[in-house]
Amino acid sequence: MEKPAAIAAVKGFRDVLPEESRRWRALEEAAERLFALYGFGEIRLPILERAELFARSLGETTDVVQKEMYTFADRDDTALTLRPEATAGVVRAYVEGGLAQRDPAARLFYRGPMFRRERPQRGRFRQFHQIGAEMLGREDALADAELLVMLARYLAAVGARDTRLELNSVGDAVCRPGFAARLREFGRAHLTALCTDCHRRLERNPLRILDCKVPECRAVVAAAPVVLDSLCDACRTHLDAVRALLDQERVPYAMNPRLVRGLDYYCRTAFEVVAEGLGAQNAVGGGGRYDGLVAALGGPDVPGVGFAIGIERLAMIATGMEELVTAPAVVVLPLAERAVGPALALSTRLRDEGVPVGLEPAGRSLKALLRAADRRGARLAVILGDEELAAGRATVRDLVRHEDRRQELALDAPARELALRVQALVGARP
Ligand SMILES: [Zn+2]
Ligand SMILES: [Zn+2]
Repeated sequence: MEKPAAIAAVKGFRDVLPEESRRWRALEEAAERLFALYGFGEIRLPILERAELFARSLGETTDVVQKEMYTFADRDDTALTLRPEATAGVVRAYVEGGLAQRDPAARLFYRGPMFRRERPQRGRFRQFHQIGAEMLGREDALADAELLVMLARYLAAVGARDTRLELNSVGDAVCRPGFAARLREFGRAHLTALCTDCHRRLERNPLRILDCKVPECRAVVAAAPVVLDSLCDACRTHLDAVRALLDQERVPYAMNPRLVRGLDYYCRTAFEVVAEGLGAQNAVGGGGRYDGLVAALGGPDVPGVGFAIGIERLAMIATGMEELVTAPAVVVLPLAERAVGPALALSTRLRDEGVPVGLEPAGRSLKALLRAADRRGARLAVILGDEELAAGRATVRDLVRHEDRRQELALDAPARELALRVQALVGARP
């Protein structure tokens, strides 16, 4: 019979193996702990939404909607999309679930996979993962500042050291049209140097030329007018208040007047977390204020502000989680086939008490078993041979100090006592 061919994962989709997913879990748990201190509750959203949700929230003209979404017709011909981001879903749920009435100032955080059909590149995948937080129903600068303080604390908590918070204001419905007009005028004067995408952007949403990734466009845009010079008084006051609160809390940031968010519904505060050493695509996360979005999605006129962080990228730069890589403290080694039952019983009792235990199969020499225990990075080997079974007490070998404690563990001792004994031995430093 012909050997069946192996089936590969879909391009841009990948597996997260245990070593990496342990780091992810640490990032998620740190978020859970910290965000709870700021009053955020977790929302679990579907990954599939109606395509129109994103067309309406992100804007028909965005690259995401035009080129990058996984959209397909369901069997009843409804257009469905694998979510490319979660803010639109949070807002849909906020309106649909009645939070808009019950808890208008809801604070929600989420985590999970997002999908964009981008060209795969280092650290970028078509299924990627985000942790994000959204603060609804608040238009005051304190909300923006509180969110940014939380973000800064989170990055510090996971040891993401070489990051920089960049801040800007993108104006609002009052002052942005004026800025867009100035930008359009500037763009038309440099039309030949801009890419064809930017020609289209100039007519429909000129701000988008500011984050075009084509090098020629970037060179042109470097001399473009900046939105900070066009802010109305209300936007200026809001920005100054956010900055004063960040300064008070000693949250470092840099103003980046070129920073715009690629999505239509952002207004006023826009920010990005940039990491050194991630190459050209160096954004770890970002966010901002989206005061028109809830209304645009059929809800009440409620403002919002939020951020999203890419877990893949954060995991690449977070340094605070090394100690969470847990090797089993103990590996149980059944020397003979008849020691298999007692070895499993001992392992179960230790695990029930919260001790991580490795368990090797029987049928090999003591030397081979010890080598296996060593490979797992264990501190202790618990040996169950004929002699130990006869005495009802296991031998414990300290794999670091290379010394045996014969008949150290009474197999019929209470589980708690066994665990305490093992923990004491593991804790003993050479
Ligand atoms: Zn361009
Ligand atoms: Zn304004």
